[in-house]
Amino acid sequence: MTEVSTPDRGFRERLRADCGQCYGICCVAPGFVASADFAITKPAETPCPHLREDSWCGVHDTLRDRGFPGCTVYDCFGAGQNVAARAGGDWRGDAERARRMFTAYPVLRDLHELLYYLHEARGFAAAAEVHGELDETIDATERLAARGLDELAQMSLADHWAEANAVLTRASELLRAPAAGRELRGVSCGAPTSSRPVSGERICGARICGVRCCSGPICGRRTSRSPTLPAPICEGRICRVPRWPRRCF
Ligand code: SF4
Repeated sequence: MTEVSTPDRGFRERLRADCGQCYGICCVAPGFVASADFAITKPAETPCPHLREDSWCGVHDTLRDRGFPGCTVYDCFGAGQNVAARAGGDWRGDAERARRMFTAYPVLRDLHELLYYLHEARGFAAAAEVHGELDETIDATERLAARGLDELAQMSLADHWAEANAVLTRASELLRAPAAGRELRGVSCGAPTSSRPVSGERICGARICGVRCCSGPICGRRTSRSPTLPAPICEGRICRVPRWPRRCF
C-alpha cells in the first residue's frame, strides 16, 4: 500500500515560470496559427518577431491591444527555465542545443501542468479518498519529468495523461459534490460574443467542458485541458477562473 505523504505546499513556487532564467522558449518552440489568441501565424521552432535578443518580449505592455491575448495568459509552469537549465544555455547560435530544447519543452510543459493540478488536488482534505492515488500519480509524473531532454522529446504522454485525468476527475467530483454541480458543455461566455454568459456564481461546482471564454466575468486565464478544476475544463479555454474556487465548497 502506498504511504500517503503530506501535501507539497511548495509546488506553486516550484512550478512558477521564471522568464529571467529562460530564453523565451515559449516564444520560439510552439507554432501559432493566427486566431483570436495570436495575431500572427508562426511556425514551430521559429522566434516570434517580437522576441528581443535579450529574450524579453518587445511588445509585452501592449500584447492584448496588438491581438496577442494568448500570450498574456500563457503559463509554462516552470518548464521553460527547467529546460534552459538542463540544456546549459541559450538556443541562439547552437542549432543542436536549440533542437533539444524545443522538442523537449512541450512535453515537459505538459508534465509540469499536470503536476500542478495533481499537487493542488492533493492539498484538499475532501479528496482524501484518492490521496493515495494522487501520491502515486505525482511520483510517476515526477519520474517522467526528471528524464533527460532527448528522452522527453520522444515521449508520448497520452496514456499517462489519461490515467492522471481519471484520478483528477475523481478528486474533482469529491470536491464538487457538496455544491451539487451541474455540467456545462460547449458553451461560450463573455462579451461581446456570448449569448449565454457564464458568471462566476453559475460555475460553482459545475463541470465545464468545451467552454470558450473571451472576456467577461470569468476571463483572464486560459487553460488547455485542465482536468482537475471544480469545473474541469476539457479542450476548452476559460479565463480568470480560480482553479479551485474555494468559496464553492
Ligand atoms: S518558456 Fe516559461 S520561463 Fe521561458 S519565457 Fe516562456 S513563460 Fe517564461
